[in-house]
Amino acid sequence: MPAATSAVSGSVSDNSALSALYGLDEPAIAATLKDLDVGEKQLRMRTAQLWNWTYVRGARDFSQMSNISKDLRNRFATRLTLNRPEIVSEQISNDGTRKWLLRFPLRPGEKTPAEAETVYIPEESRGTLCLSSQVGCTLNCTFCHTGTQKLVRNLTSAEIVGQILVARDRLNDWRSAGKAPEQRLITNIVMMGMGEPLYNFDEVKCALLIASHGEGLSISKRRITLSTSGVVPLIESVGSEIGVRLAISLHGVTDEVRDILVPINRKYPIADLMNACRNYPGLSNAKRITFEYVMLKGINDSPADARGLVALLKGIPSKINLIPFNPWPGSPYACSDWESIERFSDIVAQAGYASPVRAPRGRDIMAACGQLKSDSERLKAKDRLALQSDV
Ligand code: SF4
Repeated sequence: MPAATSAVSGSVSDNSALSALYGLDEPAIAATLKDLDVGEKQLRMRTAQLWNWTYVRGARDFSQMSNISKDLRNRFATRLTLNRPEIVSEQISNDGTRKWLLRFPLRPGEKTPAEAETVYIPEESRGTLCLSSQVGCTLNCTFCHTGTQKLVRNLTSAEIVGQILVARDRLNDWRSAGKAPEQRLITNIVMMGMGEPLYNFDEVKCALLIASHGEGLSISKRRITLSTSGVVPLIESVGSEIGVRLAISLHGVTDEVRDILVPINRKYPIADLMNACRNYPGLSNAKRITFEYVMLKGINDSPADARGLVALLKGIPSKINLIPFNPWPGSPYACSDWESIERFSDIVAQAGYASPVRAPRGRDIMAACGQLKSDSERLKAKDRLALQSDV
């Protein structure tokens, strides 16, 4: 069956005076309700009702909220919206992988709306949603298609949570659609789409705490993985403030190679990165760190590289994901041949590491690892630097 592409009409938040309700944490919702003259005694109950309608029942309009008076619903609608990001296109791969290109409402000062991609990967025992944290990326990892798109801007928590809501809508994956928790299609989240999540820490943290809230979207923190290219100073905070699983986009075992493949390595070299991993809060055999390793022909795929990887990870409870390189137009690398991948995998397996070779998913719709990119316009260099200046 050929891959399918379709334009899907989604709803756009067309009134920039309205804030998306999703993306607000509970205190922020309560503060908004207080501004709308909801009495102190009702704040907790009304916040819980909004939370339930938004994240458990997937409401798209305040008019659906039948246990809230019409007058109050109208008041909510003067400040808040449940409109989703617009779906510009939906592509469905031969293997069932889905990719959505989403367009976000214009923000102050923007001339064109920002766009980013979200991918859903169904597997036998789980369904993983891969979320973007930025439009474009500053980090220029040389094997990554997103890295060729200059950073446009960080996504807000609402724009990150909005990706989950759109996916649940399109997959009809809400409890109100009769789905019991064990029948849900989206079981796992990975922050591995466009962008470096730790260059957008506060918004990503807010979004993931909303996603994992037990009375809402309810995706367990054990099933959420944040992947970083190695922003060492913030790794500890991922464990202590968000509490999700960590993945490291490693791809090289010497500074010489990693400096080229993942240029942030020049700022935070491998020794510092491994040190941060050793100290990751809650690290144990039950909560291992995933190391992602893209297999590039003649670059990082020799038996010596495999032995180097084993030596590097000594003492760190780890999983290794070997990723056959997914080509994109103009990419300077080729995928390792299968023999090299197997030889590499055998060496790390013999050293006692689980090292599944990740089957490429959604290649035909450019949805595979490292292939995401949108056409959003870039920020000026000085604005990009300002965005990164905190780290
Ligand atoms: S791998 Fe991640 S951090 Fe590196 S360029 Fe791609 S999106 Fe950015």
